[in-house]
Amino acid sequence: MNEISKPRITFCTGVGTVTGANFLLETPGGSNILIDCGMVQGEKVAMQENHEEFPYDLASIDALIITHAHLDHVGRIPKLVKEGYKGPIYSTPETRELAELVLNDAVNIIAEEARREGGEPLYVAADVEKVFPLWRTVEYHKDFKVSDDISIFLKDAGHILGSSMIEVTVRAGEAALKILFTGDLGNSPHPLLRDTEAIGDPDYVVMESVYGDRNHGPKEERLQEFERVIKETIARGGTLVIPAFSLDRTQVLLYELNNLVEQGRIQSVPVFVDSPMGIKATDVYRASTALFNEAVRAQISRGDDIFRFPRLQYTLTQDESQYIDHAKGAKIILAGSGMSVGGRVVRHESRFLPDPKNTVLLVGYQAAGSLGRELADGAKKVRIHGETVKVKAKVETLYGYSAHRDSDHLVEFVAGAGGEGTGEPRLKQVFVAMGEPGASMHLAQRLNDELNVKAMMPERLKPYDLE
Ligand SMILES: [Zn+2]
Repeated sequence: MNEISKPRITFCTGVGTVTGANFLLETPGGSNILIDCGMVQGEKVAMQENHEEFPYDLASIDALIITHAHLDHVGRIPKLVKEGYKGPIYSTPETRELAELVLNDAVNIIAEEARREGGEPLYVAADVEKVFPLWRTVEYHKDFKVSDDISIFLKDAGHILGSSMIEVTVRAGEAALKILFTGDLGNSPHPLLRDTEAIGDPDYVVMESVYGDRNHGPKEERLQEFERVIKETIARGGTLVIPAFSLDRTQVLLYELNNLVEQGRIQSVPVFVDSPMGIKATDVYRASTALFNEAVRAQISRGDDIFRFPRLQYTLTQDESQYIDHAKGAKIILAGSGMSVGGRVVRHESRFLPDPKNTVLLVGYQAAGSLGRELADGAKKVRIHGETVKVKAKVETLYGYSAHRDSDHLVEFVAGAGGEGTGEPRLKQVFVAMGEPGASMHLAQRLNDELNVKAMMPERLKPYDLE
């Protein structure tokens, strides 16, 4: 039994910063559960902070629940298991499958970082293997008991495939306390996925705030812009190189290319998906169409394979990847990584950047220090694998592809608390996490001012009692 009289929550990491989500919920009945066990990320995939000891007794944890498969939510699970965690891990089936890809990819990057910089890698492939025998799956919308006094209910977060908000119910006799952990919230409407579900009627919310202080521009223009960039590059007989995140972004771009090609809006040219992880993630998406939104499901039931169109080639192996070099004339290459930090895209950039016929199209956030950011900032030459590469190709940026809700839509999400016609919402407090301090505090202020909801950015490692 925990020596506490009320349930309490501790934000171990993942407050005042976007990455590293890891939250502990303890109950007076003696249950201890963790929500997410993410990697703290910065310019490197694994920052030094990840090596620190977990601030709880691993043997006392009853269950680990995972919101979604992004590395900043799953990246330290192998460390947790390596250090002795033997309890169950729960998530949707899709999150489990995608997490397997993400962790197996991460272990290679971690090994590379350790080789380059010395020191012990955070974990190795054998540690990743030990994670999955512990991992059970839970479907959306099923009440599921994880300990004597805690049950969970997963709702679609609309962020990436399989992403969920976790509604945790803590029972003490007749009383029940509901805490909603949002994970990351989708920028609905998503081209493929369903909209983020409503917040429901929780007592407490732990929410993300990546864009807590900013709004996205209009989304309508992004498809027209994509079409324009493709047409202009094809007209020059050039190559369009798109650095794309393997998970979700690649599938969204493929779906949009599928539509542009099949509607005859762009000329059919060879399209290469040159990313092993992107290809494997596409397979997981392809097998999960039941979770897509209604419009896409209707399109598929009319017979369209949305991840297959004429002249599209998936180049899984290194050998297949080399074929791309022999493809003459206009073509499109999608490859990871999304910020041009490692991955096959870097090879294509060093080859295609020096020619003004070509275009590099950036779709999404480019972190400071990344090659993608240098290109976005208009660098005239860049260093790739120790060589100086001139940037003569056109560099364009497509906005509106963020997978996160913006500030207005985060406020709107919380405004829905209580649902319709159910009287006063139960909502007592919102803990604003998973954002830079400025973004989190701005969102908390907006929730206070505009919705009259008590909201704050919690302190790291300080336990908060839930009434
Ligand atoms: Zn995410």
